[in-house]
Amino acid sequence: MSVTKKDTTLLQNFINGVWVSSSSNQTLNVPNPATNELLTKVPISTREDVDLAVAAARKAFEKWKRVPVPKRARILFKYHSLLSDNHEALARLIVEENGKAYKEAYGEVQRGIECVEFASGAPTLMMGETLSGIAEEIDSEMFRYPLGVVGGITPFNFPMMVPLWMFPLAIACGNTFVLKPSERTPILANRLAELFSEAGAPPGVLNVVHGAHDVVNGLLDHEDIAAISFVGSQPVAKYVYERAASKGKRVQALSGAKNHHIVMPDADMEKAVQHIISSTFGSAGQRCMACSAVVVVGDNEPFVKALKKKADELIIGNGMDDEVLLTPVIRKEHRDKVLGYIDKGVLEGAELIRDGRREMSDHSEGNFLGPTIFDHVTPDMTIAKEEIFAPVLSLLRASSLDDGLEFIRKSRYGNGATIYTNNAKAIRQFREEADAGMLGINVGVPATMAFFPFSGWKDSFYGDLHVNGKDGLNFYTRKKMITSRFDG
Ligand code: NAD
Repeated sequence: MSVTKKDTTLLQNFINGVWVSSSSNQTLNVPNPATNELLTKVPISTREDVDLAVAAARKAFEKWKRVPVPKRARILFKYHSLLSDNHEALARLIVEENGKAYKEAYGEVQRGIECVEFASGAPTLMMGETLSGIAEEIDSEMFRYPLGVVGGITPFNFPMMVPLWMFPLAIACGNTFVLKPSERTPILANRLAELFSEAGAPPGVLNVVHGAHDVVNGLLDHEDIAAISFVGSQPVAKYVYERAASKGKRVQALSGAKNHHIVMPDADMEKAVQHIISSTFGSAGQRCMACSAVVVVGDNEPFVKALKKKADELIIGNGMDDEVLLTPVIRKEHRDKVLGYIDKGVLEGAELIRDGRREMSDHSEGNFLGPTIFDHVTPDMTIAKEEIFAPVLSLLRASSLDDGLEFIRKSRYGNGATIYTNNAKAIRQFREEADAGMLGINVGVPATMAFFPFSGWKDSFYGDLHVNGKDGLNFYTRKKMITSRFDG
């Protein structure tokens, strides 16, 4: 199959194995967040474009579902090797369109490759179950089958890892896929599709349609879409879940977060500070597993002082510079929203102990904001309740672990939480009582690997089966039970 030449000034959709121009003439600029230089333009595709992609995926499904599972897996092995060969180039693309530091982008590519590794195990993963003799001379068998066409809708903050949470496993299980990447980081999705095609994926098995709400609604409403995998912000996740589920689709919708880190008085303070700094300010705080609220247990002024000192020392700049940890946020509009949160924090009585606004003028070329820390934040304040998704940290004071756990319980979100301590009793209490799906014990970013589910709770997730691991497998397959009588 040949891939036609791409148009680099305006991205195209990838449908049925070829690059196709969108039927829309509406476009959005895609700037580099560190410089605001234009990288490309992305089309805001229409429902017609969605229909084309779904039709291609539906047609491809009829053949793809019959391809033997080991043969499907072999394409994923090839894809794994192509992604590995392009590891550095993919990381550079991520830095350009997302703005994060190269080291983090490199790590993101690695996380993505691990998802392909997991999906390559499809022949073992897809095995069914049998029981000889459920009654006299009667046996039962369970087989797994794909669902059909799956739609994937992804956010800007992990342009490689999140799409790879979805389509490799879905496709390895025999489904075909239509991906709608974030319109703010669309470039990498095209490269992922191009390499997948190079790995031998037949036309129509993976399609990419760029755009915004119309494309999303087109997927949610389309009668030939069997399931929706979504990752993004809370209001959109809830909307996607409700709208797609009301049309009878299987849905998993991963949503926003507000992750608390509890610092116990006995913690190794140097390490706690180091982990909190990189969890809070890495990727400019734009990670669903970022620390955004620290619960300081006891009167621990040395910890607060050390945290502020480390924040003061952070190097801010373009992610391609090796030294840099704090990179820009995705868009100027997003930074404006964050500035609104900072004003609100001050207005509601939190103590601004480090004001990142002061670094904005030194880095006016991009969407930069310096490390920002509020102290004496209370759980009822807006900055404690809402996801800010930026390098802004709230410190809450607590007199005991019980109080800290109560703050976590009160949060509407439950993606992740971490405790810093060496006390076995505190660790166990935290593990048993922290009301979140992914916990860290002295770990700053307790994100799971591809063979475990990525498991948010409460308003951080809508659906039943999470992405990755056995949940992912169960999400992308349906079971068929065969009962056979052998009495002659
Ligand atoms: P977003 O919700 O703005 O966008 C996500 C996707 O939904 C995009 O493809 C976008 O085009 C689409 N979309 C946005 N608004 C829409 C609307 N009104 N109708 C239909 N479609 C719409 O999210 P984002 O800003 O790109 O990503 C950041 C968010 O994603 C954060 O809230 C973060 O916590 C969350 N996230 C969660 C996880 C997780 O595992 N829980 C992982 C990564 C990111």
